[in-house]
Amino acid sequence: MNDILIIGGGLSGAMLAAHLLRQPGRRSIQVIEPRAELGRGEAYSATELGHTLNGNAARMSVDPDNPDDLTQWLTAHIAAGGWPESDDQHVPVPELFPPRGLFGVYVQQRLAEAKAAGAAHGSTLAQVRGEVVDLEVGPDGVRLTLGDGSHLHGARAVLATGMFPAARTGQRQSSGLNAAAVDPWDVKAMATLDPQGRVLIIGSGLTMVDAVVSLEQAGHRGPIQIYSRHGLLPHVRRQPPSWPDFLGADPAIRTPLHILRALRAQCRQAQADGIDWQAPLDTVRANIGRLWRQASDWHKRQFVRHARPWWESHHHRSPPPSDALLRRLLAEGRVQIAAASLLGLAPAEPGYVGIRLRDRGQAQERMDTGVALINSTGIEYDWRRVDRPLPRQLLARGLIQPGPLALGISAEPDGAVHDAQGLASPRLFAMGPPLRGVWWESTAVTDVASQAKALARRLAERTQ
Ligand SMILES: Cc1cc2nc3c(=O)[nH]c(=O)nc-3n(C[C@H](O)[C@H](O)[C@H](O)COP(=O)(O)OP(=O)(O)OC[C@H]3O[C@@H](n4cnc5c(N)ncnc54)[C@H](O)[C@@H]3O)c2cc1C
Repeated sequence: MNDILIIGGGLSGAMLAAHLLRQPGRRSIQVIEPRAELGRGEAYSATELGHTLNGNAARMSVDPDNPDDLTQWLTAHIAAGGWPESDDQHVPVPELFPPRGLFGVYVQQRLAEAKAAGAAHGSTLAQVRGEVVDLEVGPDGVRLTLGDGSHLHGARAVLATGMFPAARTGQRQSSGLNAAAVDPWDVKAMATLDPQGRVLIIGSGLTMVDAVVSLEQAGHRGPIQIYSRHGLLPHVRRQPPSWPDFLGADPAIRTPLHILRALRAQCRQAQADGIDWQAPLDTVRANIGRLWRQASDWHKRQFVRHARPWWESHHHRSPPPSDALLRRLLAEGRVQIAAASLLGLAPAEPGYVGIRLRDRGQAQERMDTGVALINSTGIEYDWRRVDRPLPRQLLARGLIQPGPLALGISAEPDGAVHDAQGLASPRLFAMGPPLRGVWWESTAVTDVASQAKALARRLAERTQ
């Protein structure tokens, strides 16, 4: 019997394992992950140098106690001859935007160090390759079933299953669309397209930005038409100075409307003082978990309905190298963006993909065609619509329930998962993107890093 079974070996699973290995006491940990390598997941398996982090090194440490951890690792890595292309960014190391694949190497190295440290006091870490397809909780522990029919037993289990891309879920009307679409990161597939052909991209967030980088890398030089409901592009991430924590200082600012009003006033104030208007945004990020948890369901719904597109474009900002490419292509007229809703696929001549859409504010449908379609509409957060065995089984067994607004799953702030009756489990925990509804922001490197540390401490207390 293992002490802790971690389901999913992306950034969350790897960081949780690393923190558990560094806790005093002996424990055996198993991470179940279908990918060959731990610590990468979808985000950090990137192989293109142009697919960079959206924050600079100074903001992307995986050690909540040492914000300079990534900067220090990168400095040593570059000094040893690694990532020679970093010179092209012409900035000091803390301001570099590293490729996500390289960030994966950093995570793996920190995990390897933790494994060595854990071995010194008898703790072990093993990876089991496979997909967990079922989970049962008994009085003595948790039993997992893997895709090959084998079982694993542990005292406790953690769901570190990450995000389920909407493109890979099967129950939505968009499934036909997904079958016709090119993966936003598949440069090889893009290299087989007519380089002058028109490409359609659905969605205008950071995945779209990656898709444009992929197309450029693949040698595509034709027009790119982007459609999204609101037609908003992500802002570029700049390095504004720090700004007073106006939300922390005034607990009376609670509702989405008040927050937006206060934020607009602060941004205007920053501009009037000759300071970058992005400065006040980061103070919102620091308070968003508290504000979200305090908000009523009605206010949460109001925020999602009215402020979500704005939040996405302002808070999930684009790395400067990718943004520079996008702005150049927009200026050249090769990239165009329009606000429209996708209605579905449409018949098209062989070698083309057709879509039906409705422009914002228009009643009439229209069609568009291209040589390829890229679906960058993001993530399926509602586990009831995720077409994977484990979420289905957990729901069917009553071991989980949907989180607030059906975003991920419901849990205590310490990660203990709520069952169908709302009881917090002593054996099943979750972290990272599955807790989207609990924290609103529960995905970025810094969110995951701090959750991993807190959960490791909590689990270590229980396994002593
Ligand atoms: C393309 C992309 C770019 C991103 N860029 C940034 C960025 O620049 N900055 C930033 O802060 N954040 C970024 N993110 C957010 C990023 O997802 C998180 O930082 C982080 O990857 C979340 O880690 P995770 O381990 O929770 O999820 P994931 O990385 O998704 O890993 C989850 C793992 O669980 C495994 N898994 C799922 N179900 C099962 C199962 N049933 N059995 C076994 N294994 C299972 C999967 O194979 C996967 O490897 C990006 C995300 C994506 C997708």
